[in-house]
Amino acid sequence: MQHQEQAPVYTPYPTELPPAFPIGFRQTAPLVNVTELQAHLRLLGAISRLKFDVQSQRSGIAARGTKDMAWVVFVNRAVFRFFTWVSASWQRSRPGFDETMIPPLDVLMVWHTYLLNPRTYFEDSQRMESVYATNLCTLAEMPLTLVASLIQGQTLDPLSPSAERQHFFERTTGLPWYMPLTTDYSECLAVFCPLCQVINSRVRWVTDDETGYAQAKFKHRCESCCKEFTKGAMGMRRFVDEVSLQRSGTKVFFSETLLEPPTGKVNEKAAQTFVEKVFKALHKDYKILKPFKGENPAEEATKLGDALAWDFEILCDRLHEGVRPTTVPDRKNRNPRLQRFAVAYSNPGMASIDLVGAVLRQGSFISKMDELGWTRPGRFDLIAESAPLVRSVARYHAFLDLMAAHNSTFFVPTLDIDLAWHTHQLKSVHYRTATTLFVGRFPNHDDNIEPSTLSTAYDITAKAWKARFGVAYSIRVENR
Ligand SMILES: [Zn+2]
Repeated sequence: MQHQEQAPVYTPYPTELPPAFPIGFRQTAPLVNVTELQAHLRLLGAISRLKFDVQSQRSGIAARGTKDMAWVVFVNRAVFRFFTWVSASWQRSRPGFDETMIPPLDVLMVWHTYLLNPRTYFEDSQRMESVYATNLCTLAEMPLTLVASLIQGQTLDPLSPSAERQHFFERTTGLPWYMPLTTDYSECLAVFCPLCQVINSRVRWVTDDETGYAQAKFKHRCESCCKEFTKGAMGMRRFVDEVSLQRSGTKVFFSETLLEPPTGKVNEKAAQTFVEKVFKALHKDYKILKPFKGENPAEEATKLGDALAWDFEILCDRLHEGVRPTTVPDRKNRNPRLQRFAVAYSNPGMASIDLVGAVLRQGSFISKMDELGWTRPGRFDLIAESAPLVRSVARYHAFLDLMAAHNSTFFVPTLDIDLAWHTHQLKSVHYRTATTLFVGRFPNHDDNIEPSTLSTAYDITAKAWKARFGVAYSIRVENR
C-alpha cells in the first residue's frame, strides 16, 4: 500500500538516527533501526531472486504456461508448506527461537506476508486454542538479522541449511527442505474433501483446463463422495467446524470478532455480544448458539455447511439478516465488518486471509524496492550511503505521529515509509504494543485497496503532512 508520486525535492540527510522521535505527546527511542531495514531488504532481495529463478525454469508449468502462472503455482505450494509447518508439533529440546527453526525461503516468504497483516495475524494467534495458534505466537517476531544472516549477501541465494536446521523442518513437517522450482502436470497433493472429510490424494496442482489446486478455477470431484468441491467450500468447512467446536464447549472466537474495530484491542465480551447479534438468523434456523450435546459434531457441522451451500456469500447474507432482519440482502452494500468476517472463511488453510493473494500482492512492493535499487547487494553497506534508510525510519515515526494526531483517518504511506512500516510489523508484538501506546490504536495494514480510494487517501495524507510538518510529503527517492 503506497503511492508513487514523487516531487523533485532532495536535501542531504543525516546518516545516523537521533536518540528519540516524538509521536503524539510522547518521545520514543527509534522503533526500528537501519540494520533491521537492511536485513529486511536482503530478505526481499532473496524473495525477488527466488521468483526470478522460478520463472526462468525450462520445464514444467514455467515452460508450458506463462511465467506469471509459474509463480502463482509456486506461491500456492509455498502456502501449503507454510500451513503444514505451522500446524506441526514443534517439540524441541531447547526453549526459544533459534537458527534451527528458521524454515526454507519459500515458507519464510509466506510467514513474512502473514505478519504484514498484523491484526489478522494477531487475532488468528489468539482466537482459539490450537497448535497452529500456539505456533503463531512463537513466530510473532521475525528475527530479521538472523534470517538475513542465512542469505548469501552477494548472490541473495539462501545458504545451505545446517543439518540440524534441515532436519527440524523435515521431521516436523514430513516435507523435503528443498521445494522444487518447477511443477509438473502429473504432481498431486492430498486434501480433505470439505463435504465428506475423506482425504483425496489425487488432487493435481495444475491441469490443462485450469482446475488444478493452484489455479483460479480449482474444483475436484471427491474420490469418495463423488461430489465436486472448491477452495471456497474448504474455507467454509473451517467455519462450520468452528461453530461445532464452540457448541461443544471449546472457546472459539470467530475471525473479525475478537478485536475491537477502532483500537484493535482484544475484547472477548464485545466479541460474544457481536456474534450473538450476527448469528441471530442462523440461530433461528439451526440453533447454532445453543450447546451441542450430540455425539457427532462433525456431522452437525456438515449439515450447517450443506444448509449454507458451502458458500461464504450465503453465509454473509445470513449474517446480515441477523443485523438487518427486515431488509433484502444487498450484496453491493454490505457491512464491511460482516464482509470481512465471511471472506475470512472463503479460503482453505488456517489463516483468516487469502495468503496466496497476499504474497502475490506483496510481490509488487518487492518489485518497487528492486526498481529503486534498494535490494541490490551492497547498496547500503557504506555508512555514508545509508541516508535514505535513516530518512525512511525518521519519516515512519512522523507518519505514526500523524496517525496519532488524527485518530480515524486512513493515511497512505510513501514507498520509503512503507519499508520502515513493514519492518516494524515483522516485530509484531513490539509493533502492537508500541502503536497502541503511541498512536492509541493498533493499525492494520491493508494492501488490497481500490486505486481510486488509495489516490484520494494519498492526497488527504499529503495535505495533513504539509499542515503538521510544513514540508512536502512526497520526496525523491533516488535510484542508484
Ligand atoms: Zn467427499
